[in-house]
Amino acid sequence: MQKTDITKLVRKNILSLKPYSSARDEFSGSDGVFLDANENPFGELNRYPDPHQKELKTKLSEIKSVPVSTIFVGNGSDEVIDLTFRIFCNPGKDKALTFTPTYGMYEVSAEINDVELIKVPLTAEFQIDFDALENYLSDENLKLIFICSPNNPTANSLDNIEKVLQKFNGIVIVDEAYIDFSKASSFLTKIEQYPNLIVMQTFSKAWGLAAARVGMAYSNDLIISFYNKVKPPYNVSGPNQKAALKALEDKTGFKNRKSIILEQRTWLHNQLSGLAVVIKIYPSDANFLLVEMTDANRIYNELVNQKVITRNRHSVVENCIRITVGSPEENKILVNALKKIK
Ligand SMILES: *Cc1c(COP(=O)(O)O)cnc(C)c1O
Repeated sequence: MQKTDITKLVRKNILSLKPYSSARDEFSGSDGVFLDANENPFGELNRYPDPHQKELKTKLSEIKSVPVSTIFVGNGSDEVIDLTFRIFCNPGKDKALTFTPTYGMYEVSAEINDVELIKVPLTAEFQIDFDALENYLSDENLKLIFICSPNNPTANSLDNIEKVLQKFNGIVIVDEAYIDFSKASSFLTKIEQYPNLIVMQTFSKAWGLAAARVGMAYSNDLIISFYNKVKPPYNVSGPNQKAALKALEDKTGFKNRKSIILEQRTWLHNQLSGLAVVIKIYPSDANFLLVEMTDANRIYNELVNQKVITRNRHSVVENCIRITVGSPEENKILVNALKKIK
């Protein structure tokens, strides 16, 4: 691979940006009388949080075996996605690409940033269509390729992601929101090898902290330095940093809950495969199943009438419903509700 010059991919205004320097940047000690940030001296949440989330990053760095300088923590992956557009894509000029059907935020974020998103359909097996991709790789304005693996909503892991990293000289973002439920290995180990790789992970799924809004980007020091430049100074709240740190400290709880979800995924798959309304269940590497129904719109509505809410994906994969693997009780309720539908 031609060595990618990352700085050439970054927008000029971002390269020359002088980032905001907060009170906590200018004095980072923890001991003293703090009269520097116009905080209120009274209360429990009265102080600004650590803008660099040092404690959280240190713990993540231990668990993931990567240096602290290669970690960015965002207000959910959604902030990471938005900042990625803002760092690399000139509005109205640059482009991004993804493989569809996939996570809807890449498109929304592209539109907000006035960036054209090229959608290359996945093959019938929900894998990357390299022949179709080839047509776009030499486009000078193509800056980003988003790869979601395991992919939402198709539930499978994508093969040959590394081939994209080798063929494309722009930035490749691998969204690993569901990696903890997958047999496939994480691309975190490839960060040193590919200077154009960004791996996204999140606390929202396997870690059970969707409410806390904590998502990560892992990459080389240089790329991470641009995220730190453009992020809002206090982008992850104090309580949310604490919640994430607490989750990381409970390794046993994490493992136990994950194994229940994986067992339930198999149980649900078995139960659903016997039902008259179910045509096909796609293999899942995630905490949800993509299920082809006899009539997704009708079945979705009949489930809603029974107060069971699933995600109707008929508009993106014909007659498919996406079902999150819930608790054993929730899954039983779903199966019983489906049994009542003819
Ligand atoms: C759920 C999900 C996320 C998580 O987003 P957060 O903003 O971190 O909650 C990221 N990517 C994909 C593909 C998802 O399905």
